[in-house]
Amino acid sequence: MTAITDLSSADLADRLARARDAHGGFKARGLKLDMTRGKPAPEQLDLASGLLTLPGNGDHTTATGEDARNYGGLQGLPEVRALFARPLLGAPPEQIAVAENSSLALMHDCIVWALLKGVPGSQRPWSREEAVAFLCPVPGYDRHFALCEEFGIRMLPVPMTPDGPDMDAVEALAADPSVKGMWCVPKYSNPSGEIYSEATVRRLSAMRTGAPDFRLFWDNAYAVHHLTPARHAIPDVLEACAAAGHPDRAFVFASTSKITLAGAGLAFFGGSPANLAWYLARAGKRTIGPDKLNQLRHLRFLRDGEGLTTHMDRQRALLAPKFSAVTEALDRHLAGTGAAAWSRPEGGYFIGVAARAGTAARIVRLAGEAGIGLTPAGATFPHGRDPDDSSLRLAPSYPSLPEVALAAEGIALSILLAALEAEQAARDAAR
Ligand code: PMP
Repeated sequence: MTAITDLSSADLADRLARARDAHGGFKARGLKLDMTRGKPAPEQLDLASGLLTLPGNGDHTTATGEDARNYGGLQGLPEVRALFARPLLGAPPEQIAVAENSSLALMHDCIVWALLKGVPGSQRPWSREEAVAFLCPVPGYDRHFALCEEFGIRMLPVPMTPDGPDMDAVEALAADPSVKGMWCVPKYSNPSGEIYSEATVRRLSAMRTGAPDFRLFWDNAYAVHHLTPARHAIPDVLEACAAAGHPDRAFVFASTSKITLAGAGLAFFGGSPANLAWYLARAGKRTIGPDKLNQLRHLRFLRDGEGLTTHMDRQRALLAPKFSAVTEALDRHLAGTGAAAWSRPEGGYFIGVAARAGTAARIVRLAGEAGIGLTPAGATFPHGRDPDDSSLRLAPSYPSLPEVALAAEGIALSILLAALEAEQAARDAAR
């Protein structure tokens, strides 16, 4: 297709009229489709319905003969840690802890504890520093940014590249002692699906930081969430940090929210021996022990690494066609127009769209009018402000495949219409 900027005035007017017609047709259908959040679909949750009857009547004894119904077991059952430590956290089982159902809650707690007490290597609690800042690769995960906002942590955006965050920018900013942390979703990043390269992981592990207690908040939310047969691997960050002489640099997080049940999975913390001891000392004040029946339930259901892989293959079979439906519609309507670029993620839960600058908010409005709920424009930037008004996040997991295919048409049309309108407006203004 011809680039929109190369269209003659007559062709632009004609394309605009046709795009308005098509969008009007969509509005008239009175659809109600939700592409706002990365929620698993009911069929995905059904894959784990076996969990609901486990561990089963009478089955409450752990591998070491303890009663999983009782208090205790702060670090989590060793057999459960052995199952999840390597694939989800890239850590030995001794270096992880199993918590409750939400890794976001763990990130929240680690930030609060860092602010109130400091972390290993801190000279004082972070809240007693003059200023605390986090590096925020953008576009990124809105709930990470919301945590910073909640606790008054300044956010310093860093652009993403196909290999992960722009490391020259990261290294320059990390030299500032007020920079205490950095958000990282290293594999199948939210929202654009980037996989951090080996060089990126090494540089993050080895870089000089101004703060002696700097932490990578390594959110490995999508470690085994592949959308293609290529099961991408990245270097284990704890090993990389230790090898670079900064063994305490990373806090690692993961969960089974998007493996088993989004509201009733298991969450994990991983770190160096010093970080794990720090975590357990805090966690031990907060709880007498986690839900070990849920741990046993997960162990009985998934059994071993092979069971986990098979389960994720079933997830992929449900998810991959939805992602293909979206990229196929974007390709068909938008290729060559210059209206947007979009990611083709090989894992994770989102497709990132970089629309023509100045059109993202308009696209969300147009899609809304057509009955398609999109994540608000700007949500993937600190404070919800995308300086280019360009970035969109598409979440195709929840609606059914036919609904996703339909929504993708409406989204592509909205992107095209917004770009045509913007081009017309730019030409009118230049006259
Ligand atoms: N991190 C990332 C990058 C996510 O995308 C999500 C869920 N959308 C979470 C964390 C939330 O994880 P949990 O369910 O374990 O709290």
